[in-house]
Amino acid sequence: MKKFVKEILESIIVLLLLSGLLLLGYVYNPKKVLRIKENLDNSSPEEYSSMSLERQNLLSEFDDFILESSTKEAKKLIQLIYSNPYKLNRLVLNDIKKEVEGYSGELLEIWYVYNMGVVAKHKEDVICFDLSTVIASSNLLKLSDVCNYLFISHGDGDHFSSRVAKRILENNGKIIIQDDTGIFEESIKALVSEDYWENIYNLDSGKEYSIGNINVLGIKTMHRMQEEKDNAWLSVKVGKYNIVHTGDGVLDSHSDVNLLGNVDVLLANSIVVPLSLKDLNAKYIIPLHMHELGHDREFLKENSFSSYLEKLNGFEESIGSKIYPLVWGESIEVV
Ligand SMILES: [Zn+2]
Ligand SMILES: [Zn+2]
Repeated sequence: MKKFVKEILESIIVLLLLSGLLLLGYVYNPKKVLRIKENLDNSSPEEYSSMSLERQNLLSEFDDFILESSTKEAKKLIQLIYSNPYKLNRLVLNDIKKEVEGYSGELLEIWYVYNMGVVAKHKEDVICFDLSTVIASSNLLKLSDVCNYLFISHGDGDHFSSRVAKRILENNGKIIIQDDTGIFEESIKALVSEDYWENIYNLDSGKEYSIGNINVLGIKTMHRMQEEKDNAWLSVKVGKYNIVHTGDGVLDSHSDVNLLGNVDVLLANSIVVPLSLKDLNAKYIIPLHMHELGHDREFLKENSFSSYLEKLNGFEESIGSKIYPLVWGESIEVV
């Protein structure tokens, strides 16, 4: 009997040690991560057409940092959460939260979180878009506490995190989607009790609504070039600003552009949108959907700052918009 108890105790100790090591590996931030974080903290966003060499070098250093930890095949989730880019992203989430909470201005401030995740603040209204990371860390959930509104372009995991959506609804925040089939709406409803359903808004395509302090409009689009899959372009009017988020969508017809009116900020998927840049004539463009960690090395190479800037350089017609490539955690003020 004594031997049996001893064996159990030994197994428990081994398990505890192993979990301790796993936890340590998760929270430990290697020098490389801290160094690039410091470089980012010392740099500020610059507009594409007048970007300094120093800033260009920082963007390319960030590309390298991502590519260094990439693999030929897409990483498994368990590998991703121990990877350096995931650690860096987790660190900046804390900073974004503090900055958003500390900001209260007449101007619109926009922070870049990850992939197509963005937080915008105007006066006391905090509007979040597509907040999701590879796996929702506790830092991402804490950041989502700042959101009064969450816009979700579609249900893919790199745009929609069920844990974030649940948390925002339970904080009495509002969720805004445009979903013709109703399947996505049902999956969001299933996350919370019926008491919160009135805060889920499923828009009719092309129709403007007033919700709380903002006006919203959703336009149904194709998901990339897949006809059978939906996505929504979502437009938000807050104060004097009109912000448009494209998700992974391509507009079905050019005439849809007219529904949007004057666009102040286009939160653009850099993979699918470049062709529409001129038609939209947005004042500001923030290119998104780069460095999405759930992909293999080739995808990450194609969707990096370097290849995006190369694409822009090759663009023949001039673009009137101010284009701001942002790194995770950075923000710009929209005037
Ligand atoms: Zn998608
Ligand atoms: Zn996507």
